[in-house]
Amino acid sequence: MKPQPITIIGGGLVGALASMFFAKRGFDVTVLERRGDMRKAKVEAGRSINLALTSRGLKALTEVGLADEALKLAIPARGRMLHDAEGNTTFVPYGQKDDEVIYSISRGELNKLLLSKAGEYDNVTMRFNQKLEACDIDNGQYQFLDTEANQSHTVDAPVTVATDGAWSAVRKTMLSTVQNFNYAQSFEAHGYKELTIPAGPNGEYQIEKEALHIWPRASFMLMALPNLGGSFTVTLYLAYEGVQSFAALDSKEAVQAFFEKEFPDATALMPDLAEQFFANPTGALATIRCAPWRVGGKVMLLGDASHAIVPFFGQGMNSGFEDCSALGELLDSESDWATLFEKLEAERKPNAEAIADLALENFVEMRDTVADAKFQLKKEIGFELEKRYPGQFIPRYAMVVFHPEIPYAEAKRRGDEQEIVLNELSRGISSLHQVNWELADQLMQQHRAA
Ligand SMILES: Cc1cc2nc3c(=O)[nH]c(=O)nc-3n(C[C@H](O)[C@H](O)[C@H](O)COP(=O)(O)OP(=O)(O)OC[C@H]3O[C@@H](n4cnc5c(N)ncnc54)[C@H](O)[C@@H]3O)c2cc1C
Repeated sequence: MKPQPITIIGGGLVGALASMFFAKRGFDVTVLERRGDMRKAKVEAGRSINLALTSRGLKALTEVGLADEALKLAIPARGRMLHDAEGNTTFVPYGQKDDEVIYSISRGELNKLLLSKAGEYDNVTMRFNQKLEACDIDNGQYQFLDTEANQSHTVDAPVTVATDGAWSAVRKTMLSTVQNFNYAQSFEAHGYKELTIPAGPNGEYQIEKEALHIWPRASFMLMALPNLGGSFTVTLYLAYEGVQSFAALDSKEAVQAFFEKEFPDATALMPDLAEQFFANPTGALATIRCAPWRVGGKVMLLGDASHAIVPFFGQGMNSGFEDCSALGELLDSESDWATLFEKLEAERKPNAEAIADLALENFVEMRDTVADAKFQLKKEIGFELEKRYPGQFIPRYAMVVFHPEIPYAEAKRRGDEQEIVLNELSRGISSLHQVNWELADQLMQQHRAA
């Protein structure tokens, strides 16, 4: 591909990373970001305080030489720590291998790292406080408001990558200007609120550090991921309306009583719970699907701008980073923008659809079925099948989270088939010792044939 100036709109996680995939290949890149420069001043990083970084995201970071530095900011979580209503805990590992871990990382610190490293390339220019207000995609003209100077200006941007997030202004323009543009946004009945379990008096972690904690309560749940420095970011996922809902938590007393009843162990670690609850916003959860993601060779939506998903598989950022890996490969093989963008969408769209569906399914698993004895038995059978049929049976969670070489769409398809095997093998039994392994052989042969 002939080096040519590239404009990236949105310097969040995906935009900052994408800039390096271009810069490494000799393109001059300009990143325009609405927020201030978070490398210099404390700037709200948006959406969630911390995130799970997993193998697909790490693969993309490795491709720009940043995985090791990112991991220095991260804490490994080796499995889920389930908390029941009495405060008893059960640890359920994510996988059987030492490297089958996910990493909890601060969104702000990761974004800062990406912007800092991108800024080290001579051919990357970053412009902050630049809010995209209007675009004329056909003529490659984008109008920004410089929010510091309070002045509008127009940027000439014949080849643009729009990574301006779930509420993308570029996508909004495409919706009204691109013929037959498909767009669907669907909000969950649940919202989320972030809270903090502080570090202990000596800076220690007050609950197990290397775990993703879940308090599953069927129709709602609490979750916690560790931060460097001893604290945990706790997220309540709860319906907006109903008996147990954000609407019902309308006073400090109601919040305290709800938490003490449902999550007594977590509540004991948050002395200022009610204050935090009312100081912090309630966020919405949406799945966004659209097509096409591009207009000829002029503009391409990537990351949340093209596929925002609910956070229950911890894959939104990871899938956006995987978009960047795919972009990098195509930059090495394609010679015109229209073809590159077309191939990129063809490769990524089915996978974005698959992970959107898997993330929705995983909400039910996390808040509800994860606490079932049957679910745990099926997990154990899955691990045993993985040992007995290496390479053939890989638990669905592991395919999505630890196997970047398996595309999301294939992980979903294989996972659905494997679910039939797991349902057959777990029917009418209550422990691993009771599994009929001859039946397992037959089922695995059928599974192979399919
Ligand atoms: C509660 C929650 C938890 C999550 N947990 C995980 C997780 O554990 N793992 C995971 O992989 N993903 C997770 N995600 C998803 C993840 O946050 C997103 O997928 C990721 O942020 C997408 O990155 P992005 O760069 O595409 O968009 P964003 O991070 O939203 O960045 C968009 C950027 O564009 C800028 N921008 C927006 N509008 C304009 C404009 N008009 N002009 C200029 N700039 C603009 C914004 O300021 C921002 O910097 C979670 C999401 C939520 C809500």
